Amino acid sequence: MPATLATLSQYRELISDRPKKFSESEAGYTSPARSNSDYHCEDCLHFYRGLAARRTVCEILRRPMGSDIEPKAHCVFWTRTGDRFPLLRNGN
Ligand code: SF4
Repeated sequence: MPATLATLSQYRELISDRPKKFSESEAGYTSPARSNSDYHCEDCLHFYRGLAARRTVCEILRRPMGSDIEPKAHCVFWTRTGDRFPLLRNGN
């Protein structure tokens, strides 16, 4: 056991700089049931599958209640390379 336990306020301070991310509505997140797109999160540059935690997350979008990013979903910021955004108007 550590000599001094961390406090709740230290914990809150630690997570206070959690990076901001887009919400589902801001990014136009579309679940697989409503999507007929060929662009899927699992093929997107921003998608990450954490094997140890068995979670799928996105580096720019956060779903409510920590829900996983669905591999067959998409949002308007889908990109394979980071320099082309085919679902955005003028995204080339
Ligand atoms: S398509 Fe959107 S939600 Fe899916 S991984 Fe890419 S940026 Fe994230």
